[in-house]
Amino acid sequence: MNKFEQLGLNESLLLAIKDLGFENPSEVQEKAIPVLLEQNTDLVALAQTGTGKTAAFGFPLIQKIDAENRNTQALILSPTRELCLQITNEIKLYSKYIKGLHTVAVYGGASITEQAREVKRGAQIIVATPGRMQDMINRGLVNIKNIDFCILDEADEMLNMGFYDDICSILSDTPEEKNTWLFSATMPAEVARIGKQFMSNPVEITVGHKNSGSATVSHEFYIVNARDRYEALKRLADANPDIFSVVFCRTKRDTQAVAEKLIEDGYNAAALHGDLSQAQRDGVMKAFRGRQVQMLVATDVAARGIDVDNVTHVVNYQLPDEIETYNHRSGRTGRAGKLGTSIVIVTKSELRKISAIERIIKQKFEEKTIPSGIEICEIQLLHLANKIHDTEVDREIDSYLPAIYEVFQDLSKEELIKRMVSVEFNRFLSYYKSKRDLSSQAGDRERSSEPREIRAGDPVRYFINIGARDDFDWMQLKDFLKETLDLGRDDVFKVDVKEGFSFFNTDGEHTAKVMEVLNGYELNGRRINVEISKNDGGSNSSRRDHNGRGGERRGFGGGRDRDRAPRGDRREGGRREGSRNSERRSDATDRAPRNERRSSSAPRRTETSGASRERRPRRS
Ligand code: ADP
Ligand code: MG
Repeated sequence: MNKFEQLGLNESLLLAIKDLGFENPSEVQEKAIPVLLEQNTDLVALAQTGTGKTAAFGFPLIQKIDAENRNTQALILSPTRELCLQITNEIKLYSKYIKGLHTVAVYGGASITEQAREVKRGAQIIVATPGRMQDMINRGLVNIKNIDFCILDEADEMLNMGFYDDICSILSDTPEEKNTWLFSATMPAEVARIGKQFMSNPVEITVGHKNSGSATVSHEFYIVNARDRYEALKRLADANPDIFSVVFCRTKRDTQAVAEKLIEDGYNAAALHGDLSQAQRDGVMKAFRGRQVQMLVATDVAARGIDVDNVTHVVNYQLPDEIETYNHRSGRTGRAGKLGTSIVIVTKSELRKISAIERIIKQKFEEKTIPSGIEICEIQLLHLANKIHDTEVDREIDSYLPAIYEVFQDLSKEELIKRMVSVEFNRFLSYYKSKRDLSSQAGDRERSSEPREIRAGDPVRYFINIGARDDFDWMQLKDFLKETLDLGRDDVFKVDVKEGFSFFNTDGEHTAKVMEVLNGYELNGRRINVEISKNDGGSNSSRRDHNGRGGERRGFGGGRDRDRAPRGDRREGGRREGSRNSERRSDATDRAPRNERRSSSAPRRTETSGASRERRPRRS
């Protein structure tokens, strides 16, 4: 019995596999195929390119398809037309001994009517790019309402290319009971979000442990003025209410100082460095493992080998002297297949180091901006709303309720909700209202009409106001750009076509030409506008650019409610806070019950003393 047989594949597939010359299954195939054959389950598989993912989903899919039924039973979504065609070819090869099984490719840049005709003739498997698929659905040319399987291949790439909305829309056109199999090389937040939204209890498979961190850690940097480092750290913590992090400083002194300031400002923080006694260090680590400490501020030496799972963020408060050390730091998160984010707070003068690190970790950083006060208020408000929504109710409360109801009897549900969340919201608002925007400097640079310093050898990313609406797919746009700019084959890259606009990259040496030739160029009576984008098109860049350009804003319209928050609540909040404090101990390791503390949002309640009122958005 050969190895493919052992996986449970049937005769016609085994014959095809023999023809293909595959002798042994690859790791992802070995792990995925039996699971997918035996169970009707959702699946998330993380594996780098070239690991044989197509067969990992293709073989079990083909075996599960009913070839005698001509209805569409499976949809495979893939990011590009090439991949779409490649997968289609592979699937056809795998299924060549199965009579009546038809696979059709659906992608942009070719006749949609021809594709629709092929589908109509009976295609059990459709392999599609999201844009064209959406198009076909809108025009009623396909029916995926009864599919049994949906496969998202190269999910990270699809989302990088801005297909998030298309994917969501397509998936919501499929039945609830189908199985979704998601394949991806990396697991950025957006992919995780899709997984969360559209899958239930997926079996998780990860291959290639050598570099396991790289698959699950995403890297971000924030440019700030040196003097704003600490304030930036606080905002990052405030913007991530459930943060569980290791914060790296360069020296023992800085480590101690940052931890002390955080504690003073009401965060659940602790320092870990070599000047502490072994007993002290053990105590700190115990508190960290037990989640009493949410921000562990540490030196590289002291944090070596910290093996705590579920760390959500590694924060490089300062970059290490030796950039190789960065890898050790970021490896503290994204462990055991969990997702993690490694954040670098960086000044402009240190930016070179970011590129150096990118070369070492072979991954791109995403440039982000420190959230504004209003954004943090929004995040906190939603966090609070969710917390209230998910709070477990203890029966003990019952006896108090009649009196409470009486207090609230004159308020409508809407009014009550408004006041309840305002209790916390007002604190953030009054704290952040007067605060300037930390990233203003970086932001100014990006928004400025003056191009940033551009050098030959550096990639430059552009925004251009033409896109799918103008009948471009990425290949056509690339061709158009190459021809119009008289550039060579590989001079235009990372072309991402969106509905009404697109992004692309060239080397900095072509920037002058790009701006000069394209700006004002008329295409079908429309003037082309090109702008230099704020990053080089690394991961997820396009979506952020999109949002940055006034696209849809997620979450609360925080600004609107600002002036309406009822004043009275603020005082009441203050009273309550006072009584809370008096019940608490000041001992940092003996604190409020865990749930309450962990979910307590950013302006951590004063657990030390009321001395530092000015520093954090506390209840006043
Ligand atoms: P991925 O989708 O992970 O990038 P592919 O599915 O495209 O990888 O496979 C990469 C190459 O490896 C393809 O040429 C494929 O035919 C080949 N391949 C896949 N599985 C095997 C196997 N078990 N043995 C030999 N070659 C394989
Ligand atoms: Mg593939």
